[in-house]
Amino acid sequence: MTQRNLNQLRKDLDTINVQLLELLSERARISQEIGHVKNKQGVPKFDPVQEKNMLDVLIANNTGPFDDKTIRHLFKQIFQASLNLQQEEHKKHLLVSRKNQKENTTITLGNITVGGGTPIIIAGPCSVESYGQVRQAAAALKEAGITVMRGGAFKPRTSPYDFQGLGVEGLKILKEVGSEFGLKTISEIVDPSHIELACNYIDIIQIGARNMQNFELLKAAGDVRTPVLLKRGLASTIDEFLHAAEYIVSRGNTQVMLIERGIRTYEKATRNTLDISAVPILKQESHLPVFVDVTHSTGRKDIMAPCAKAALAAGADGVMVEVHPDPSTALSDAAQQMNFEEFNRFYTEVKQSGLLHGLG
Ligand code: PEP
Ligand code: MN
Repeated sequence: MTQRNLNQLRKDLDTINVQLLELLSERARISQEIGHVKNKQGVPKFDPVQEKNMLDVLIANNTGPFDDKTIRHLFKQIFQASLNLQQEEHKKHLLVSRKNQKENTTITLGNITVGGGTPIIIAGPCSVESYGQVRQAAAALKEAGITVMRGGAFKPRTSPYDFQGLGVEGLKILKEVGSEFGLKTISEIVDPSHIELACNYIDIIQIGARNMQNFELLKAAGDVRTPVLLKRGLASTIDEFLHAAEYIVSRGNTQVMLIERGIRTYEKATRNTLDISAVPILKQESHLPVFVDVTHSTGRKDIMAPCAKAALAAGADGVMVEVHPDPSTALSDAAQQMNFEEFNRFYTEVKQSGLLHGLG
């Protein structure tokens, strides 16, 4: 073969490459159109039967020189690329996505606005243990200037032999003490059938890390209009977290706040690993307010202030911490809850950073 022939063959390949590119692009555009129709119909993007049919036609038409296995492999790559394209398009259309709504979602709780640029601190005991305990916590928190108090009435404990919470009785205590001190209240709900009932007692429904993908619970929370604080699952990706929020928002409850609470890694120095990068990523990807739970993510009182400051510096709309009148006697999470003195020191340090005025 002469050099001239080789050059011509290379030119032919260049031409075919460009033709293939044009055909692939045309194919991608048609596939996107199919994606839009599927979106409207609410049917899944991946259709294994259709993919098998397309491959069967190709194999029936294959006259070589590529063998069937290679053709299958090549076209599967093309199909996957189209599916990825459809899924990217779909992501843009998630209701929780920043691509779908540019402005931040704000949540109004009396005269508090969450997500409006002024971060808040949510504080309170891990569990509601008694009227007296909650009242003591409320008095100290109110005095410190806190406006939203937490307290678990239904406790999803690792062991069935551990304190399970006071249930509805605990919600009643929160309501009574919250209204006495003018504090908004937040508590975890674990059963879809309790969601409606909970709206009578608390201002924010918490969905815990263990229930982030309890889809029936998410749907029930989406059917009411009480704000929801959704915790990131113990080993959930940011994508899974956002899709869990989508379950709530897609049912009509747009008042959703996200909270990073640490994820499982091999690290033992902290209870979980605080994924601080989740904060700016969630703020970029979604318009929902983003919080950080520094208590459950670290499990260490000695690093709560720096972690809270890191969260706020990364753009968090708020921080959650556990505070108990006498942590050593707490019925849950005794080691990680701050007493009032520790909390006041923590709060002073965070306030002094200036980060509670927002990032501007
Ligand atoms: C809690 O906040 O009370 C709690 C149980 O946290 P998590 O769901 O993040 O473990
Ligand atoms: Mn706890």
